[in-house]
Amino acid sequence: MPAYNREAICQFCNTKIIPPKKGFRSSANGNYICEDCVKLLGQALDVRGKSDGKAKAKKRNKKMTPREIKKELDKYIIDQDSAKISIAIAVYNHYKRMDIKSDVKLSKSNVLLIGPTGSGKTLLAQTVAKMLDVPFAIADCTSLTEAGYVGDDVETILTKLLRSADGSVEKAERGIIFLDEIDKIAKSGGSSGAAKDPAGEGVQQALLKLVEGTIANVPVNGGRRNPNEKYVQVNTENILFICGGAFPGLEEIINKRTAKDTSIGFGAKSISEALSQVETDDLVKYGLIPEIIGRLPVIVSLNELDEEAMVKILTEPKDCIVSQYKEFFKYEGVELEFEEDALREIARETIRRKTGARGLRAIMENILKDAMYNVPSEKNVEKCIVRQGGIVDVVEKCQTMVAACF
Ligand code: ADP
Repeated sequence: MPAYNREAICQFCNTKIIPPKKGFRSSANGNYICEDCVKLLGQALDVRGKSDGKAKAKKRNKKMTPREIKKELDKYIIDQDSAKISIAIAVYNHYKRMDIKSDVKLSKSNVLLIGPTGSGKTLLAQTVAKMLDVPFAIADCTSLTEAGYVGDDVETILTKLLRSADGSVEKAERGIIFLDEIDKIAKSGGSSGAAKDPAGEGVQQALLKLVEGTIANVPVNGGRRNPNEKYVQVNTENILFICGGAFPGLEEIINKRTAKDTSIGFGAKSISEALSQVETDDLVKYGLIPEIIGRLPVIVSLNELDEEAMVKILTEPKDCIVSQYKEFFKYEGVELEFEEDALREIARETIRRKTGARGLRAIMENILKDAMYNVPSEKNVEKCIVRQGGIVDVVEKCQTMVAACF
């Protein structure tokens, strides 16, 4: 758009543009705009840009309260109310701690989740990280070793977190790490009979500093033994660690203690009931070193999921399994229906297999396998109904039409 100094009319303010005032002519339609209007438009755009930025920053900085966090978790995680509340408080306090400027040293609220496999431990940690839009990494403790041994050094956990933060150290330093299977690195010689890793204590020692807060040298590509590896320094002071484990046999230690405490015979309690009474001493007896337990101040147990909970997991959460399969069939123009009894049966079978809710999908996949194989080739299918006994009834379009004629 060329600048013009000759007289013309500004199409915005409808005034004459008399030199030395400048005007600009559109090469598209020959219309003019004066320099005053250009400045005004520029200011308007600038103000809007700034206020948009402020609104975005405000939204980003808005902290969810523990109640809001719990409510959001409810959308994805069935039952486990006590764990959801504890996590909501821990996460809220963790991020509040970063904002508080005080002489009082506030310690981290790292969390230990104890519960059977497939009860939602990983899902809880994952959902909280997603909700807060912070980087998240899962590390399996069984693959970790002390420095110098074959396996992954503990610092490689931070490599994963860095990757999840798209390489931003600043973002990674506010992330969440889920340390799965922490019970498997319990030191041998604890009083439970469960299999333990003899090198476990060394790994616990190695994790200690990381969990407590340290400045770690992190291999960017995870190849610590590569001499050309690049390192960055990551401060773990504000990284929240959520540890999870099934702790098989821990209930016996708890039952023994509580039986002594109350002089009531033990063995009558369910595993979930026993685990809900876990204390730090029980975990020391199990084989966790006191120093690591000291860095995990929030200890929460998750319940074994019952039939009711399994059916809810199938049908209620956002993106639940039933909705997902319905979508697959809808794509073929076929309605997928589940009888209540069929869902209950799937829930019972999952409990029998002791896989936790993780096993639901495999059973469903098996039941729907034939239908998923055949339906895309059949043009006449209107509906599939999943009934008890793993039976899938197919309703054809002409049947419905015939029924409609009668
Ligand atoms: P773990 O306790 O072994 O870490 P996960 O959280 O990995 O178990 O659960 C495995 C899968 O089972 C999840 O991805 C989710 O689909 C389902 N699941 C487990 N527990 C729940 C729950 N309480 N609510 C909803 N889904 C669950």
